[in-house]
Amino acid sequence: MPRIQKRDDGQPWYADGLCFACQGCGRCCGRSPGYVWMTKEEMADIARHVGMPVKEFRRTYVRRLWRGLTFKEKPNYDCVMLDGGRCLVYEVRPLQCRVWPFWPSNLTLPQAWRAASRGCPGMDAGPRYAFEQIEALRMEMDG
Ligand code: SF4
Ligand code: SF4
Repeated sequence: MPRIQKRDDGQPWYADGLCFACQGCGRCCGRSPGYVWMTKEEMADIARHVGMPVKEFRRTYVRRLWRGLTFKEKPNYDCVMLDGGRCLVYEVRPLQCRVWPFWPSNLTLPQAWRAASRGCPGMDAGPRYAFEQIEALRMEMDG
């Protein structure tokens, strides 16, 4: 687990919570090369959601890379599930999409959060997530 910067009182730097509200800009879903990892179970759920046999769904939309399964990208690097700025499988999107921006890597240091927020206008906007909510999301990705 990555080291998390602590405040003087020993609490994580984000112990007072962090604000986030997705602005729907779609930047985290494309425009540059990336990886949207999913488990086999997530892939099967998504295939069911779109009404396709899993094998056909995998062949059409998913590629296998060294770490596992990730969505293919369009020529402009958008995730293949992004359509008109909207995620076609939002309700069943993979964990890494659901947990953003509370990824362990963004929570190590305030600087890491700030750096990530430069590409995501939803970070530091909107309602405050309580420390407990953030930890629950972070732990989902930390496994
Ligand atoms: S980059 Fe941030 S604000 Fe834009 S769609 Fe992704 S999560 Fe939402
Ligand atoms: S699965 Fe949906 S939320 Fe995740 S990157 Fe693709 S379009 Fe975005």
